[in-house]
Amino acid sequence: MPHNIAVLGSTGSIGTQTLDVISQFPDRFKATVLAAGSNVDMLVSQALRHRPALAVIADERRYAELRDALAPHGIETAAGAEALADAMERPDFDTAVTATVGYSGLLPTVRAIKAGKQIALANKETLVVAGELITRLLAESPSRVIPVDSEHSAIYQCLVGEDPETVEKLIITASGGPFRTWTAEETARATAAQALRHPRWTMGAKITIDSATMLNKAFEIIEARWLFGVPSERISAVVHPQSIVHSMVEFKDGAVKAQLGIPDMHLPIRYALGDASRLPSAERGLRLSDYASLTFEEPDEVKFPCLKLARLALDKGGNTACVINAANEVAVAAFLEGHITFDGIYRAITDALSHIPFVQAPTLDDYVQTHHATIGYTLDSLSRTSH
Ligand code: NDP
Ligand code: MG
Repeated sequence: MPHNIAVLGSTGSIGTQTLDVISQFPDRFKATVLAAGSNVDMLVSQALRHRPALAVIADERRYAELRDALAPHGIETAAGAEALADAMERPDFDTAVTATVGYSGLLPTVRAIKAGKQIALANKETLVVAGELITRLLAESPSRVIPVDSEHSAIYQCLVGEDPETVEKLIITASGGPFRTWTAEETARATAAQALRHPRWTMGAKITIDSATMLNKAFEIIEARWLFGVPSERISAVVHPQSIVHSMVEFKDGAVKAQLGIPDMHLPIRYALGDASRLPSAERGLRLSDYASLTFEEPDEVKFPCLKLARLALDKGGNTACVINAANEVAVAAFLEGHITFDGIYRAITDALSHIPFVQAPTLDDYVQTHHATIGYTLDSLSRTSH
């Protein structure tokens, strides 16, 4: 019997690579639910190829196209965020790959955990927005999270067989993004086209901009704190431009374990889908002699102030990281549209942090409310300042 999988965000960078892995192991995996945002053409072609039981489109305006294309093939269809979250309770899959972008991952992931599904977690924003709540829900559910994010997959792999009490430190590697060697002044004025040119990874637009500001690394520190239960003062980021060492764990005896590989998300996706097992790869592996040197350097928190937001979010707790995430979603979209400058992203986040009320112990409703209040505030604030 194949392992049945729901792919949330099937038309994106992680989603399409997940479907590659599923196609490579047809006896092992079957996509039974596919969900996308608005790209109905790609969703239809994926559905005709993978024959899921259900295809969901978040954008309700595209529903008729989806239904008309798939009904003749006996594939069930649905539309809207609510339908996507409802689909998490279906009995016809065991693992949800959460690969939608931003806040949209939160509510379906909550529902999937409540329904006892396994989670292959790509959508790090779920843990950024509501890490404490998700950790609590996981403690009461048979669900287990296996990270897809390459750094967290690396740490997970390094921890296998180790006593968690012996962990001294998690060391998350960062490529440094496209502006690693630029001056602070050049970086502040960078355009969207320049920020979208990531040196190592091809990813969706939002995470590519987050990598350029290095907020992605701050998010990954927050993600690691919740996934591995290690306090933020024992999680650090190190810049490693070659992106071969995917992250490291230092133990109390001084040993440091690392996971290495070429920068290719298929590996962490295979590992997560295979329930932390090592499925064979048809691709050429890592040839260390291709790399004259592997280098490591301290990240520059002056040039990349977003990095400091991880410590702030974890020290202050409550809804702080939820505010950071929502303000960033608005600011990144505004930057991509050319409405604000690159350094305006950080300013938009700090502005929202000083205006949105702090909630010490948020419920799920508080997170939802904080998210929407921050989106509204930041849209208003940017429209006042950018024109
Ligand atoms: P993409 O932008 O490439 O894809 C996003 C996917 O989510 C698309 O399928 C999109 O559909 C769908 N989507 C967007 N909005 C919604 C919504 N409101 N409801 C339902 N579906 C929606 O992103 P990535 O694949 O790059 O990233 C996905 C997640 O994985 C992010 O959280 C990112 O941080 C994380 N991640 C990504 C990595 C990568 O290498 N790409 C590495 C590590 C983590 P449509 O195409 O129709 O718009
Ligand atoms: Mg990553």
